[in-house]
Amino acid sequence: MPSQNYIGGAWRDAADGATDEVIDPATGDVIATVPSSTAADADAAVAAAAAAFETWGKTTPRERSEKLLALADAIEGDLEELKRLEMRNVGKPASIIEFEFDLTVDNIRFFAGACRSMETMAAGEYLEDHTSMLRRDPVGVCVGIAPWNYPLNMAAWKFGPALAAGNTFILKPSELTPLTALRLAELAADILPPGVLNVVCGQGETAGDAFVRHRGVAMVSLTGDVATGKLIARNAADTLKRVHLELGGKAPVIVFDDADLEAVVSTLTEAAYYNSGQDCTAPCRVLAGADVYDRLVGDLAASVADIKTGDPFDEDTAMGPVISKAQQERVAGMVARAVDAGAEAVVGGTTLDRPGFFYAPTVVADPAQDSELVQREVFGPVVSVQRFSDEDAALSWANGVDYGLAASVWTRDVGRAMRMSRSLRFGTVWVNDHIPIVSELPHGGFDQSGYGKDMSIYAIEHYTELKHVMVKF
Ligand code: NAD
Repeated sequence: MPSQNYIGGAWRDAADGATDEVIDPATGDVIATVPSSTAADADAAVAAAAAAFETWGKTTPRERSEKLLALADAIEGDLEELKRLEMRNVGKPASIIEFEFDLTVDNIRFFAGACRSMETMAAGEYLEDHTSMLRRDPVGVCVGIAPWNYPLNMAAWKFGPALAAGNTFILKPSELTPLTALRLAELAADILPPGVLNVVCGQGETAGDAFVRHRGVAMVSLTGDVATGKLIARNAADTLKRVHLELGGKAPVIVFDDADLEAVVSTLTEAAYYNSGQDCTAPCRVLAGADVYDRLVGDLAASVADIKTGDPFDEDTAMGPVISKAQQERVAGMVARAVDAGAEAVVGGTTLDRPGFFYAPTVVADPAQDSELVQREVFGPVVSVQRFSDEDAALSWANGVDYGLAASVWTRDVGRAMRMSRSLRFGTVWVNDHIPIVSELPHGGFDQSGYGKDMSIYAIEHYTELKHVMVKF
């Protein structure tokens, strides 16, 4: 397993030799040691990426597409090792890991194809004797700062469109989960020219911050916490670099009285506890109509009580640990404060007494709309259920948080589904489902869930500069 940064086609320790330990969240054991990089390493990576941009930035879409397709093939050919690393480093159970890697490979193949069919306004004479044309130029050196919940997939959402558009790229993985990023660099080493894709490990406040402030970086794309996004936007302002922010979520699941409750319960049982609930679009905030509330709480609690939690490498396990001790304490604290304030943990509500960082799949009934549990992202295996009185109240509660990433509406009434879809202030609205995503369609937030879209043609556009060329004849 590689344990050094990958910069300009070479493997290097951090300039000052410092390292961070990587922990297996299912056991608490140290499983690797990686560089803890600083500004000197960021300088080296930016220099390598800037040098590579001189040639990569001038390649044709076809050349870039072929390289990305080769990289997707290499990832597909290495799936067993990549899955093993992600299961060990993030605690993902074998039963859920397939989908994530399938999506990652498909995302890269999508960007490989999409960059060959980018469109702009047609060239033409908009002023007499002048022909105007629009170019989509790459922005330059892009840095992707990734979170720990889907380490390789979130990396692909960033390097895919960046490289497809002709930029060079530096990946700063989460300090908690750098292992698949380093494996990615190993795979890319035989495919991409030196400096086109670099991986620099380290803490956010040191390595990440050095990139955010670096004059040679044209764009920073973060997937992370809202607070981190605000800090990065502030720190990037001095160099006016482009910032792309995919931040947290608090997805409402609005269940009207005419909804298919069986479908709601089975979707929640799978999607809300998938990846231990550490998903920015997780259906974590159920708003139920008065007539279905009691049945929904009862059926959901019974179904969630059956979720098998344990060793990620056991084939029967549906849910593994949360990522860290700090995350386990955060989840436990938020549930405890909700219960103290009068809500009821109808199932779960406890830390599991075993090594590693496990928390029981939990349903909390009847928290107040202004409570911390409803207003703040838990990012753990916890679903809250509130009872609403009518459509207006449901909409007002659904929109009544700082986040705006994803929402779902469950009803058989088409008119109501369309009214709600129009008025919900979220980047994705599902009707009678919650969680599916596809490479062709954008994923991104409204409000404090950030700005900029991942996936889709719109992501590639964000990694380009529009240039007007006007020729007098
Ligand atoms: P985090 O904000 O703690 O860390 C994300 C990344 O930012 C890490 O690589 C970290 O090292 C880096 N970072 C931290 N401080 C920094 C600084 N001052 N300057 C530069 N970089 C810095 O987030 P996390 O805990 O790793 O991930 C969980 C969060 O990510 C949740 O809030 C979740 O909702 C969000 N998320 C959002 C999406 C989305 O698509 N919107 C997807 C997945 C996760």
